[in-house]
Amino acid sequence: MTFEALGLNTSIIKALTDAGYTAPTPVQQQAVPAAIAGKDLLVSSQTGSGKTAAFMLPSLHRLAAIEPAPAGKTPNQEAQAARARNERPRFKAAQPKMLVLTPTRELALQVTTNTDKYSVNLRRIKAVSILGGMPYPKQMQLLAKNPEILVATPGRLIDHMESGKIDFSQLEILVLDEADRMLDMGFIDDIEKIVEATPSTRQTMLFSATLDGVVGNMARRITKEPQIIQI
Ligand code: AMP
Repeated sequence: MTFEALGLNTSIIKALTDAGYTAPTPVQQQAVPAAIAGKDLLVSSQTGSGKTAAFMLPSLHRLAAIEPAPAGKTPNQEAQAARARNERPRFKAAQPKMLVLTPTRELALQVTTNTDKYSVNLRRIKAVSILGGMPYPKQMQLLAKNPEILVATPGRLIDHMESGKIDFSQLEILVLDEADRMLDMGFIDDIEKIVEATPSTRQTMLFSATLDGVVGNMARRITKEPQIIQI
């Protein structure tokens, strides 16, 4: 099996070749074509199985295929223009196309690093991490760039949502990574609030060591006719 056979675009395949990946892992072989086709996924797989690429590669493929928004000003350019008019710049909410929720800062940073590697030839697509413990001014700077992809831990994301810094109305893809760990850590109410703020037309992918019990219930509630993949 090759990455070409999974249907990924040539810019992504070149990045994978440059990163030294020669063939997709089992979870990637199953998840990538289904996710490119727009299906919701429930995946039980372990860390080390290549699960980050299993959700990120098809997502990058789909985001790269979306027509760019008409060339308006970026939030940073609008702020500059407002200052030039002697007006106080108004913060414009970021409108991400994809959100990845992770239980820990470390995992969020790993996902962002891998995303940067896979998207190196996709100029329009940027990913940023929104993490508890990171200074707010730094995060505001990142959000002002209006990145396509946010990778976040739930608590800090809720803070930004509630203060109007992030608007999920344009979200296309929602990923819950290590969903069982997020529930173990007590993030269920935050996750429910975040999911509710996203359009019901989104594509949802949930990754977890187990799909039983509480995590299974939540998984079924937030996905539509999901493809179930067990590795
Ligand atoms: P993950 O399960 O997402 O934490 O990935 C585990 C490690 O495998 C990461 O360091 C990835 O960069 C690497 N990896 C993921 N997919 C592949 C692949 N198809 N070929 C080689 N390495 C991979």
